[in-house]
Amino acid sequence: MIPISVVKLDEAAERLAVEVIRSGVIAQGPMVARLEREFADLVGVEHAVAVNNGTTALVAALQVLDLQPGDEVVTSPFTFVATLNAILEAGATARFADIREDDFCVDPQALAAAVGPRTRVLMPVHLYGQPADMDAIAPLAERHGLGLVEDTAQSLGATISGRGAGSFGLGTFSLYATKNLTTGEGGMITTNDAGLADRLRVLRNQGMRQRYQYEVAGHNYRLTDLQAALGIPQIAAYGENVKRRKDNAARLSAGLADVPGLRLPAELPGRSHVWHQYTVLVTDEAPVGRDEVIARLTERGVGCGIYYPKTVYDYDCYRDHPRVVADPAPVAEDVVRRCVSLPVHHHLSDSDLDQVVEAVRAAVGA
Ligand SMILES: *Cc1c(COP(=O)(O)O)cnc(C)c1O
Repeated sequence: MIPISVVKLDEAAERLAVEVIRSGVIAQGPMVARLEREFADLVGVEHAVAVNNGTTALVAALQVLDLQPGDEVVTSPFTFVATLNAILEAGATARFADIREDDFCVDPQALAAAVGPRTRVLMPVHLYGQPADMDAIAPLAERHGLGLVEDTAQSLGATISGRGAGSFGLGTFSLYATKNLTTGEGGMITTNDAGLADRLRVLRNQGMRQRYQYEVAGHNYRLTDLQAALGIPQIAAYGENVKRRKDNAARLSAGLADVPGLRLPAELPGRSHVWHQYTVLVTDEAPVGRDEVIARLTERGVGCGIYYPKTVYDYDCYRDHPRVVADPAPVAEDVVRRCVSLPVHHHLSDSDLDQVVEAVRAAVGA
């Protein structure tokens, strides 16, 4: 079986983890501070604040923007459920703007149309490793005086016009096991605003700056040094790992270019894609539907995934939710029925990739 994701930590991670165990500081300490510095450099921002997962990164980012009940956050309908849950956790109302089919990210025109009198924050999701069109979205936020939170959980190191995804507004990241860079569980918030970074640090630690001096009603969002130790060696290796993912994506695209019935993903001009997922669309030209393609791939030992099988609000628990407005999203509704993600991670060999290509060609009868 060729898995869709693999977790492999090296000896450098082992050595640092042992160092932490022997130091006696296993909760948040110097390793977290080191991970934050190196992470900030990787994204190209002044400040990175570590938290315990990507969902709390989103919640904390929204909390420091001081949302009031009735305030609206506009995001993508084609995302992991954490994006929506974070908006609800922060007490805001979730609204949606449709996606584009070429980058799977929120469409700046739809986003502009969704801005209304209650809108406070725009929350694009940089999906699959390709950043959203921030050259259009950042000026839109600026023009309307809106907060900007970038869900960058899948796109660490991606760039738009040379600028890091997660550096335009408050960037939020996940270090979950399947992400491009992992600490098992973990998250990060990035910003160039020193005041916001300071408030985030206070918020993650029970609202406390000095022991028992509480400034705000906070929370425990802290990451541990043991987790940070696992992530630090992956930062030095990250450029090389992304290069492998790019090469893998290119090999898949070369092998699948002439297959009718498949729409292949592409890195768009001016953007750098970090290939968290390689996601194809099964079109009407294919002799079989998406679910049959997946059944055939599984039979041939190729792990694949549907990210995501429905628009994020299309579940009973959100249907009558007073703070979820299911704005129509015809492009996203079409994409959820056609998408399949194939293995592209940096642990694949060329022969694994060739096997994926052969299996996909056979699955769609090419
Ligand atoms: C993984 C992910 C998250 C949540 O991160 P966790 O670390 O699992 O809490 C949020 N948004 C997107 C798009 C993700 O892929």
